[in-house]
Amino acid sequence: MTPVIALVGRPNVGKSTLFNRLTRSRDALVADHPGLTRDRKYGNGRLGGKRYIVIDTGGISGDEEGINAAMAEQSLLAIDEADIVFFMVDARTGLHPADEAIANHLRVNQKKTWLVVNKTDGLEEHSAMADFWSLGLGDPHSIAASHGRNVTSLIEKVLEPFPEPEETNEPAERSNGIHIGVIGRPNVGKSTLVNRMLGEERVVVFDEAGTTRDAIEIPFERRGKPYVLVDTAGVRRRKNVREVAEKYSIIKTLEAIKECHVAIVVLDARSGLVEQDLHLLDYVLNSGRALVLAVNKWDGLEQEARERMRTEIKRRLGFADYADLHFISALHGTGVGDLYPSIERAFASAHHHWSTNRLTTILQDAVSEHQPPMVRGRRIKLRMAHQGGSNPPIIVVHGNQTDALPEAYKRFLTNTFRKVLKVRGTPMRFEFRTGQ
Ligand code: GDP
Ligand code: GDP
Repeated sequence: MTPVIALVGRPNVGKSTLFNRLTRSRDALVADHPGLTRDRKYGNGRLGGKRYIVIDTGGISGDEEGINAAMAEQSLLAIDEADIVFFMVDARTGLHPADEAIANHLRVNQKKTWLVVNKTDGLEEHSAMADFWSLGLGDPHSIAASHGRNVTSLIEKVLEPFPEPEETNEPAERSNGIHIGVIGRPNVGKSTLVNRMLGEERVVVFDEAGTTRDAIEIPFERRGKPYVLVDTAGVRRRKNVREVAEKYSIIKTLEAIKECHVAIVVLDARSGLVEQDLHLLDYVLNSGRALVLAVNKWDGLEQEARERMRTEIKRRLGFADYADLHFISALHGTGVGDLYPSIERAFASAHHHWSTNRLTTILQDAVSEHQPPMVRGRRIKLRMAHQGGSNPPIIVVHGNQTDALPEAYKRFLTNTFRKVLKVRGTPMRFEFRTGQ
């Protein structure tokens, strides 16, 4: 279980500054990922062997009155998703009426709350803190987020009760088979799809024991091949779709993305594309996961609505055009079987290994077809390419003056590699290095 820390407080107390420090520290695992929702940012952090997730909230406006008004909805959602709350206040401005309103809410909340007094740099610590005892949230903890002062020791203390996780195995080494995550915002048809996928196949085991916080692995077989459905959102637990789904949780969605090999992102043809779809896709892309797109509820849709959806996808999902796109009806089962070849291909592409010879040949062919430009009177030279990693595949290109390669040329190369290697369904990363 990865502890989740929500940062709440008035605007300008230093939440983003602390967020950046916590997620981009020397040990930070993944860079922050802004914009998963408009008002909340999620980031991964690590201290030694311990991992944590931080949620930054846009802030609670100090101008509003009353608890409900002051606790902006997104802050409430963030608190809801968190195990730990950092309530941040500003030592420079001192106690503010809105701080008290927030504190009142947090006191009745069950979540473990830490009162964090920021911007204590250059202040006499003792008197800077004096103001905040009256909030009734226990010891104030003094930090200076922008200088990093006391931040590490604070996070150490906060994480103390959480044990170091045991070394987890790579997904591939757990249950046999490709791990499939079905991802999407509420009501797009995830449960219907999951039940369809499992209902038609033989579910080998259905065992909720031995699972992590929320990820439930459901192994099943299709045409003699093993697969594993990663269910973090509790979609399978519903007996039928009329039963109320578990509350949509972004943390659980992120968890599912982390635990799967291939993410099926489900879109809803009836409601069209919305911002949340794009944010989710953006996250899948950044996480490097293999991806299959399923546009659901295609049944009985008017021709005009179909055209509209197609156009919208073309216009707004260009960044995910590496993924296979399917138009399905989870309800009737139409097109669901076609997802499997795409899942297989995406997995195979993500885990493939290519020889240095092969990659270098592709590079040299591309270069002779279309030479890199001259820079400072010398032509940029690209000599060889090798694979620097997989899942997602990383191609490392070696040459001279590679830092001067124009974006357009990089795009030409990356497209060429993709096409020649027939990579579908996985992002690819490219690194350009000068020298060997
Ligand atoms: P948010 O609105 O709560 O996310 O606040 P920000 O992180 O954007 O910070 C608001 C302002 O406070 C920025 O100008 C920061 O540079 C400044 N700030 C943040 N942390 C500190 C700190 O520890 N000391 C000082 N002196 N300024 C800080
Ligand atoms: P979830 O919240 O993403 O798990 O979505 P559900 O699976 O609960 O589906 C939400 C609603 O959409 C339910 O009323 C489903 O019956 C309906 N639905 C799901 N798939 C389809 C489909 O392919 N076609 C149509 N017409 N409705 C669907």
